[in-house]
Amino acid sequence: MRTLAVFVLMLAINIATFGQTMPKDADRALWQRALRLQKRAIVIDGHNDITSPMVDEDFDLATDSRGKFHKDGDPFHTDIARLRSGGITGEFFSIYVSGSTLKTGGAMRRAMDLIDATYREVERHPKALSLCTTAADIRRAKMQGKICALMGIEGGYAIENSLYALRDFYRLGIRYMTLTHNVSHDWADAHGDTPKNNGLSDFGREVVREMNRLGMFVDISHVSEKTMNDVLDVTKAPVMASHSSARALNDHTRNVSDAVLRRVAKNGGVIMVNFYPSFLDARTNKEENERAARLKPQIDALRERFKDDPAAFYEAERKLFAETRSTSRHTRGSSIISIISSRSRASITSGSARILTVFRSFPRE
Ligand SMILES: [Zn+2]
Repeated sequence: MRTLAVFVLMLAINIATFGQTMPKDADRALWQRALRLQKRAIVIDGHNDITSPMVDEDFDLATDSRGKFHKDGDPFHTDIARLRSGGITGEFFSIYVSGSTLKTGGAMRRAMDLIDATYREVERHPKALSLCTTAADIRRAKMQGKICALMGIEGGYAIENSLYALRDFYRLGIRYMTLTHNVSHDWADAHGDTPKNNGLSDFGREVVREMNRLGMFVDISHVSEKTMNDVLDVTKAPVMASHSSARALNDHTRNVSDAVLRRVAKNGGVIMVNFYPSFLDARTNKEENERAARLKPQIDALRERFKDDPAAFYEAERKLFAETRSTSRHTRGSSIISIISSRSRASITSGSARILTVFRSFPRE
């Protein structure tokens, strides 16, 4: 795990970024000090979904991402200029594989496509980007003023139950793996889904041990609390939650309880805060849940209509959600994001991870 040691020192002093103006009421000396600190620090963002449009829409990171949106209506938020302006040293490009592949197949193929898209972006922009797989790579990129492209798999079923595939993914540069996305699968249970394994199965434990041996972070974002505890029982290396927030602040199943936070502290791991509004703010989450309940009849009808075509169902469901977006954008979680965005013009990714101090620095309602 030594090569990963620097990852545990992740810092994201998000307010003090390079390309921005000092707020009117700020203390100039403090402001300058914060900028100097960030300039020196290695700043790593734990999770970025820009990889999906890089494959699906051939999005090029050298182009302006403003005004571009994911299929569900969330802004892209990421391009090279914004990563630079945000002072990012390393970005974990998410090799996100949808849980729908458990029905359709093709999980590993999707992961391969996303990995290739990440490599091609680095090849296209060698002056700006550098593929990093070790702490030394990250330090070198920092000295050269380049942004590290790091990769983490989201959805452990991408290995299709094969430790051989897990090792191959490591060789391709994958340095963390989120054991589940939102559905429980053969060897690990997800948050908010019916358990299949009472946490981790025996094979799931083997996966954790092999990840430890390889030097790949076990990412406990998205898994159930029981899975988190099973991982912490087995792991010999620090774990991470690449994009989860605190359950004590908002009791959402995607967040981490105080009991697990304490265990992660003992384990030497890191929890990287997710700024997704529903995870930060109970009111937003309630509105989102109410909307889901309201849309249930329409979703059921779509499910029936596309029962032989899960991919088409998923697409139609995303479209419905985008069309019926609730007022949640105006609630607290979103406003925190807009405050940071407008102040810093930094790379604020959906599912982006920031350290808790940043969150705490904003006044609570
Ligand atoms: Zn996620």
